[in-house]
Amino acid sequence: MRRWRMQSYDLIIIGGGIGGSALAIVMARAGRSVLLLEQSDAYQDRVRGEWISPWGVDEVRRLGLYDLLVEAGGHHLTRHVTYDVERDPVAAEAEALPLGMFREGVPGPLCLGHPHHCQTLFDAALAAGAEGLRGVQVHEAVGGAEPRVRFEHDGRSREATARLLIGADGRTSQVRETAGITLHQDAPHHWFGGLLVEGVEGWPEDLQAIGTEGDFGFLAFPQGGGKVRVYGGYALDQARRFKGDDGPRRFLDAFEFSSSPANRQLVAGRPAGPLFSYINADAWTDEPFAEGVVLVGDAAGWNDPIIGLGLSITYRDVRIVSDILLASDDWSSAAFAPYAEERAERMRRLRFTGQLVAAIDMEFDEAARARRNSFHARAAADPNLRMHTFAVMAGPEALPPEVFTEAYRARVLEG
Ligand SMILES: Cc1cc2nc3c(=O)[nH]c(=O)nc-3n(C[C@H](O)[C@H](O)[C@H](O)COP(=O)(O)OP(=O)(O)OC[C@H]3O[C@@H](n4cnc5c(N)ncnc54)[C@H](O)[C@@H]3O)c2cc1C
Repeated sequence: MRRWRMQSYDLIIIGGGIGGSALAIVMARAGRSVLLLEQSDAYQDRVRGEWISPWGVDEVRRLGLYDLLVEAGGHHLTRHVTYDVERDPVAAEAEALPLGMFREGVPGPLCLGHPHHCQTLFDAALAAGAEGLRGVQVHEAVGGAEPRVRFEHDGRSREATARLLIGADGRTSQVRETAGITLHQDAPHHWFGGLLVEGVEGWPEDLQAIGTEGDFGFLAFPQGGGKVRVYGGYALDQARRFKGDDGPRRFLDAFEFSSSPANRQLVAGRPAGPLFSYINADAWTDEPFAEGVVLVGDAAGWNDPIIGLGLSITYRDVRIVSDILLASDDWSSAAFAPYAEERAERMRRLRFTGQLVAAIDMEFDEAARARRNSFHARAAADPNLRMHTFAVMAGPEALPPEVFTEAYRARVLEG
């Protein structure tokens, strides 16, 4: 008969994705007792983040997890090209943006397949001493003065208590709901589909690219070994555009762009996973905590994936929350106020940036095309009009507050 090591923990973390497992590693390495509960038996490709921005890589390093991710196959990208219908693609490629310039000592964004990334962190959490369970069904997770969780695992009901519950259970967070923390959401802006492609030949493995042509916007992030994670954005009224058995094939065919001839290498590749589409928008919480409960990652609110920052946001959450937890024994709600304050401003700035990028790249009517062409022409002459992209690469705090204002938005969109 199996015996449990303990029923009471410093932390119970619900959700063993990126945020939950990363926090479990850091806290277990520091000698705290951690119970990590993950509902899935095996991590699946749900079309989630596989690109960590340079500022997110910095967070990974500060958490002491960088070597782990690189040893697991983490793959750096070092160049970026934006294709544009008004620009010669050869010239665009010749002026590829070097991605090592945003954070000292970070060669560029880091890519790692999401299921493998989750498994790597989960395994490392166990190796660090956390108790981690898979295939868990959480029946109740209640904060307050005496946080406790009731769950089922391996056909057995269990109950455990902790000093603090961490909700790292993603967008539909049960912990957030039970704690009564309100989630605010923007109206959807566009559809965003993602697919892993294999057998891509000739696409440089260190080169990421984006572009918009006609009624489709694309993003491509090589993962190494001839695999590329591609995303495509399209209008909200096209919900059925890529439905059906041949949806993944038709989705890939949409990457055939005259403004980006290199995309034919993507089109020639093979779908290597499911195609999932999401409606893109931001969501946020006013305070990602309540008595006895703290939320990290998507559970605390997310940024529009158009700028690919959910992993970086999650790693920063983990860094700030673990710093607070390790700084003192005061784990009361008041101790997490600085986390809420930093996160609110971070997410405000990133929401502004995501909305701007979505307005430029992911709107498709005549007026949007004219605005996009005007933006590219003006930005070629005045690179300051691309300043907001530093928030994506270097971090939202890297820019002065004036960037995140209506005046800046008007300059970018209206000239
Ligand atoms: C289409 C798309 C593309 C994206 N691309 C990028 C990108 O390129 N770069 C980037 O940085 N971010 C990207 N993101 C965002 C990124 O994937 C997320 O922000 C990130 O995965 C959040 O991590 P998390 O640990 O908070 O949540 P999740 O990754 O959602 O993990 C939550 C975990 O909790 C588990 N869970 C849920 N409920 C329970 C429960 N009740 N009990 C136990 N376990 C539970 C789940 O099984 C899961 O393992 C993208 C998102 C989408 C939708």
